[in-house]
Amino acid sequence: MRAAVVTEFNQPWQIKDVPDPRPAPGQVIIRVRASGMCASDLAAHQGYLPVRTPFVAGHEPAGEIVEVGAGVTDLKVGDRVGVSWHQKGCGRCDACQSGHSHDCQTMQTWMNVGGGNSELMIAWASGCSLIPDGVSFEEAAPIFCAGYTSMSGLSNANPKPGERVAVLGVGGLGHLALQFAKALGLPTIAITAQSNKKKELQELGADEVLVAGADIGKELMALGGADIILSTTSDPKQVASAFMGLRSGGRFVNLGLVHGPILIDSAALMFPARSLIGSSQDERSDLHEALKLVAAGKVKPMLETYPLDKVNDVRDRLAAGKVRYRAVLQHGAA
Ligand SMILES: [Zn+2]
Ligand SMILES: [Zn+2]
Repeated sequence: MRAAVVTEFNQPWQIKDVPDPRPAPGQVIIRVRASGMCASDLAAHQGYLPVRTPFVAGHEPAGEIVEVGAGVTDLKVGDRVGVSWHQKGCGRCDACQSGHSHDCQTMQTWMNVGGGNSELMIAWASGCSLIPDGVSFEEAAPIFCAGYTSMSGLSNANPKPGERVAVLGVGGLGHLALQFAKALGLPTIAITAQSNKKKELQELGADEVLVAGADIGKELMALGGADIILSTTSDPKQVASAFMGLRSGGRFVNLGLVHGPILIDSAALMFPARSLIGSSQDERSDLHEALKLVAAGKVKPMLETYPLDKVNDVRDRLAAGKVRYRAVLQHGAA
C-alpha cells in the first residue's frame, strides 16, 4: 500500500509503498478514505511527540473496515468508522477502571499502531466510532480530533441554558466550537483578530463578532462579558487578557497548546469567582454527540481537500496558518 512516511524529523514526508498491515487480536484494518491534519501533525513532524521515525502520521482518519482481527465482534467488514487519538487504555489503571481510559497514561494511540496517512491503517477496535449515515468521510475526519476536542471543551464547561459562549481563535477547532455552541442553542460571540472575517463568522453561527484590539477582556466585558470562553489560541497574553472578559462564575476552557505559562492574577480568579479549565478529547460521548450534530446538518466542517500526494504542501500550508478551516487528505476514489 501507499503511505506518507515520516523518515526524518523536519524533512519532507515520503510517499512510498510499504507492506500492507495485518491486524492483531482486537484490531481492525481500515481502508482510509479521508484523513484530517492539524497542529499535532506539525508537532510530530518537528519531533515534539514521543514517536520514533520512520512513522506514518494521521490521527483524524475515516474509512471503511476491510478486515477484523480475532476477537473483534462489535465491528464488521464494511463498517464506516473513524478513529480517535486514544484508542485503547491499559484496562488496569485507575483511569481505565473508572471508565476514563482517555486519561490512561499508557494508552494506545496512532503512535503505537500507525496513523491514517496511508491507504490502509491498523486501529484498535475500541478506538473506532461508527460514522453516522449521511456524513461523508471528509466531513467526519476532522470531527475525530477538532470536533471531539471542541465538544469536550463545551461539555466540560457544563453550559446552562442562555449562557453566553465566546470562542477565542476561530480556526480548525474554533469554527466547530462556535457551531456546536450555536447548535445547542447558546448565544455565541466569536473573537477574532481579523476584521475581514466578520461576515464569515456570522455565517458560521456567531451572534456577535468581537474584533480583538489590545485588551480583549475589557472589550468582551463591554459587550456584556461571557459565561464560557472556549479558547484555541496559543498566545498566553491573549489567554490572560480574555480571561478578564468572564462574568461571575465564568469558565475559561483552554483547548490550545499555549506557548508558555498562563499568567492569571489570583484576584482575577476570585473577584468575581472564575475558573480556568484544561480540556482535550475527553468522554467518548462528546465525540458521539459531535458526530450526531454533523449528521443532523446543524454543524458543517469547513474544509480544504487535497490528494494524499500533496501531504507536504498541506503541512506547509498548515504551518503558515493558511488553512481555512481544516485540511483533509482524500485517499482514492470511493
Ligand atoms: Zn488533530
Ligand atoms: Zn489505563
